[in-house]
Amino acid sequence: MMRAELIFIPSPGVGHLASAVEFAKLLAGRDERISVSILIMKFPFDFNTGPLVQNLKKEAPERIAFVDIPDLDETTRIELMSLPRMSFFTSFIESQRPLVRDIVTTILKRSESGKLGGFVIDMFCASMIDVANEFNAPAYVFFTSGAAFLSLKFYIQNLKDKQSKEISDYKDSDADLSVPGFINPVPVKVLPSVMLTKEGSAFVIGVARRLREAKAILVNTVWEMEAYAIKALADDENTPLIHHVGPIINFTTGGVTTDKKKSEEDIVSWLDSQPPLSVVYLCFGSMGSFDREQVTEIAQALELSGQCFLWSLRRPSQEKEKMKPPTDYEDYNEVLPEGFLERTSRIGKVIGWAPQVTILSHPSVGGFVSHCGWNSTLESIWCGVPMATWPLSAEQQINAFQLVKELRIAVEIKMDYRKDHFTNEPTEVLTAHVIERGIRCVMDGKTEIRSRMKEMKDKCREATVKAGTSYTSLGQFIEPIIDNIR
Ligand code: UDP
Repeated sequence: MMRAELIFIPSPGVGHLASAVEFAKLLAGRDERISVSILIMKFPFDFNTGPLVQNLKKEAPERIAFVDIPDLDETTRIELMSLPRMSFFTSFIESQRPLVRDIVTTILKRSESGKLGGFVIDMFCASMIDVANEFNAPAYVFFTSGAAFLSLKFYIQNLKDKQSKEISDYKDSDADLSVPGFINPVPVKVLPSVMLTKEGSAFVIGVARRLREAKAILVNTVWEMEAYAIKALADDENTPLIHHVGPIINFTTGGVTTDKKKSEEDIVSWLDSQPPLSVVYLCFGSMGSFDREQVTEIAQALELSGQCFLWSLRRPSQEKEKMKPPTDYEDYNEVLPEGFLERTSRIGKVIGWAPQVTILSHPSVGGFVSHCGWNSTLESIWCGVPMATWPLSAEQQINAFQLVKELRIAVEIKMDYRKDHFTNEPTEVLTAHVIERGIRCVMDGKTEIRSRMKEMKDKCREATVKAGTSYTSLGQFIEPIIDNIR
């Protein structure tokens, strides 16, 4: 039997890697004529994705192979590390290109029954489209955020290329923008920080131009959730074909390492002892953390609310290592107000890295204070848990806007909070009072938000089953790939 070999190039972050692997599993599970090689890039500094990759490898079926891209030589590594953040990422991806080329050549030589079906490239690695072109193979982009955000990227690029307007000129303005993928006018204050600097917006525009070269863009979203944005993308004649293939969720990222299994069991047994819908869960993604001052306000808010809580609290990386993810505390008393743990021992639990999908799936969890990363958003929807928005960086502010204003499945703690390691702007401190109000709102059993979230959960689940919208859209992606090996 001939096989279509797909080359996956995910970028190294947890959310990108885990959902790319999950997508590969979905494809391989759907058609036995598909096999996938996932190329694993490693940043030239410790990004702590090793244990995650080990776990993902263990879970993967036979037709999915993992290939490590070799480490960079020392001179290139030092050169890259001395670059400013924005050019670091572009140059890092470029440094991987010859290595990817060599690996793909070897894979194709080795494969007796495989024909190159195409490249599935992460949204941040769009320049890898050049490598796909060298092999004369189709390049598809796997977009790990939503369709509305994708439409915002194209909007900003059109603003520059068609109207010669710079989005960064709007910084600090109160303007609202008419972005085709959003029903409501979008306030400039919820745009990603990176778009509001000259250097950052040039990067985003460069990426958007490249995304347009893809044969199709596979978006981790659901038609029923983002029909408006998906239609807006289709209306732009220069946008590639869009496939809505989500929600793609990795159910096990929580068990990143085996030593976490024990703490997962403790968490589940603690949740088992709480009443249904009584627990508010707080977690800020793989990169989220706060300094002592903000931690104190959160702790006070939890005490004031009197709500049962499960709080994933992690230590920020050192100032000079800002790109590194936070780590777990040995002792939470290092950062929590004196006596907090004792005073809340009956109603709360503080944890490090959280088995998030397990937690969100638990019947005791009634609300999620979230940084609104796209994976966390989809996971919350999948489990039908209403959210309270507290975005930090990347595209999280625009996701929060979408959740609160467009989809109305979240309450706002804040929509334009920023704690961005790209721009280094000073961070405000959210007061206990504001946080407490958000917690009370999201846990309120009577809000329409909860019933809308339940509706969205049902629609998202229906989308993935046979004849569902995501199932069908995925089939339309696979068809030409299979036709090509016949
Ligand atoms: N995650 C987790 N435990 C944590 C923090 C994060 O399992 O303590 C997982 C979460 O379930 C999600 C991913 O890591 O799948 C984070 O992706 P997201 O897009 O939400 O945010 P990012 O980390 O990219 O900011």
